[in-house]
Amino acid sequence: MEKVILIRFSEIFLKGGNRKFFEKRLIDNIKESLKDFEYKFSQSQNRYVISDYDEDSEGEIIEKLKKVFGIHSVSAAAKVKTDFETIRKTALTFFDDTPLSFRVTVRRADKRVDIPSPVMAGEIGGDILEAYPGTKVNLSKFDKELYVDIRENGFTYLFTDKIACAGGMPVGTAGKALCLLSGGIDSPVAAYMMAKRGLQIDAVHFHSMPYTSEQAKEKVINLAKIVSGYAGRIKLYVVPFTEIQESIHKFCPPEYMITIMRRFMMRISERLALKINAGAIVTGESLGQVASQTMQSMTVTNKVVEHLPVFRPLVGFDKEEIIAVSKKIDAFDTSILPYQDCCTIFLPKNPVIRPKPELIERAEKTLDIEKLISDALNNVEIIDLNP
Ligand code: ATP
Ligand code: MG
Repeated sequence: MEKVILIRFSEIFLKGGNRKFFEKRLIDNIKESLKDFEYKFSQSQNRYVISDYDEDSEGEIIEKLKKVFGIHSVSAAAKVKTDFETIRKTALTFFDDTPLSFRVTVRRADKRVDIPSPVMAGEIGGDILEAYPGTKVNLSKFDKELYVDIRENGFTYLFTDKIACAGGMPVGTAGKALCLLSGGIDSPVAAYMMAKRGLQIDAVHFHSMPYTSEQAKEKVINLAKIVSGYAGRIKLYVVPFTEIQESIHKFCPPEYMITIMRRFMMRISERLALKINAGAIVTGESLGQVASQTMQSMTVTNKVVEHLPVFRPLVGFDKEEIIAVSKKIDAFDTSILPYQDCCTIFLPKNPVIRPKPELIERAEKTLDIEKLISDALNNVEIIDLNP
């Protein structure tokens, strides 16, 4: 008996002419995520098989695979030659004295095997009942299901669990986007969600040292690393924002501070995005969450983005829903570390909730926008993050 890991992918995206492209990307992403392990990779009809790995690392390999977008589920399986006696013996290894209800499901793709599937399932089930008197068969309500998958290639896979994986589309198949990553809860979730739709992610973070701390920056780097566990390699562009914030603070009405700041972030992000060939900008905004996330605020910030779409995957999410995803991807504990983000300094008491574009534009006339932007862009630090 050989131990293998079966990988099932979401079938929908493999239909049609793009199949080769999607599959190649998925296989590349799987290999990238398993680069620290020794193993063999093979393809068998509509699934992939990982074999010849160190059994002690099986759990770790499965944890990695659970984060690869495009994988639907995986199973740790026993692979045996298709021989009924061997199959029956192997089936018993999946059970012990634990009292439980079970069913056996046989799938017979190899029609050279002439015993009908239900007959086989009955025989195997009988063996289990006899060996472990605490067990009982229940076809509709069962604690454990043993799958016996008889493939055309002369081998049979036996397994009991289909472990749900991340689903989605292979990262990279939809192009690349630049995500505005703060140290908060929302933006890492937004990045995760867009990676799940097949976008490769690069990230931009604006920091305001010395008002914000080195730890605040470390926190963002750690969040980017967490996202890269799913999204693969991420380039994080760290942009100095202090001079811009000081200028706005000095020359513009305080209630416009946040709106104007956001417009600078968007302008800089678009230029950066175009430079790195990203096709969209991603933010973690959610409608109505704070004053700067009203429809009117989004309209005014969008106005400075000329060439690219702005994706806001969380726009319709409640905070609780966002937090649930944040916890699921293990970002939450990092996100809630209490370091100041640049948005929380120079904060006005009463930010404008429905900013008027004309008034904002007039206020911005006091600033040398081009110079502020190019100074910031000339001092970008690039951090390369691998999962
Ligand atoms: P988050 O939890 O993502 O920080 P938030 O609820 O705190 O979001 P805001 O602070 O208003 O909301 O930020 C809205 C969005 O703007 C963020 O989701 C992020 O995409 C972007 N953003 C905010 N601050 C920064 C920053 N310092 N660097 C990069 N992007 C930022
Ligand atoms: Mg924030």
